[in-house]
Amino acid sequence: MTQSARARRARLQDQLQARLPHQPELVLVTDLDGTLLGGSSAWRRRLYAWLVEQRERVLHIFCTGRDLRSVARLLQEEDRLGLHPPHLVIGDVGCSVACGASLDLVPLAVDPIEAAWQGRPEVLLPLLAGLPGLSPQPVTADRRLAYYIDPEALDRGRLAAIEGHGVDCLVSDNKYLDILPAGVNKGSTLLALLEWLEVEAERVVTAGDTLNDLAMFETGLQGVMVGNAEADLVAALPRLPQVYRAQGEGCEGIVEGLRHFGFGSLLGDLAR
Ligand SMILES: [Mg+2]
Repeated sequence: MTQSARARRARLQDQLQARLPHQPELVLVTDLDGTLLGGSSAWRRRLYAWLVEQRERVLHIFCTGRDLRSVARLLQEEDRLGLHPPHLVIGDVGCSVACGASLDLVPLAVDPIEAAWQGRPEVLLPLLAGLPGLSPQPVTADRRLAYYIDPEALDRGRLAAIEGHGVDCLVSDNKYLDILPAGVNKGSTLLALLEWLEVEAERVVTAGDTLNDLAMFETGLQGVMVGNAEADLVAALPRLPQVYRAQGEGCEGIVEGLRHFGFGSLLGDLAR
């Protein structure tokens, strides 16, 4: 690692409670619902136990549409299957970045997103209030707005007009609409974070199952599309040469993908 790389990593580490692995052999970036939370309980237990064992070799990042409060609740609930906090969390579909241990925001990653979001809700909320087919999700969402959609009632053309106000409208699973600062998504935030981490791209593997993971797959990094991926995401496969389509669902699919990308020796018993 060069001196400037070390300095960048040190600045990131200063804003985290969780100590990052010095030279990770793998940076595993997982969506949660349907991906790290998907698959059989047996596979989930196995993968979660492996992540704990390999904590010094595998830098684990959650990359989710959930907000940080929801991630905190989830970590409590899924403790029963042995899920431990990751090193870092990208939440709110790319609009939050937090320390995995404390879930405190990482200012160097979040401040630019916050700046891009300033003033948007004031303009957007009145416009969205009158739009048929939208109902606000009962979640707290940071630096974004979150709605449920009724695909029959929603006129997608009206969303294009909303995007004229410096935001991107992202429909996922044909159920959810996220309104994000323009250009901010799971992929852009991950790439920005990887610059701070200074890891080589070939050590990174992402995994996901719905359209809000598409931006992550479009980064050109190695990706695993799990077996239970939504049809609209699967349709994008032909233009995603770096993405492996797994047969296995959720955690089983993640392991299958890691083996595909040559991390079999790191997986040890998990690969069998
Ligand atoms: Mg998902």
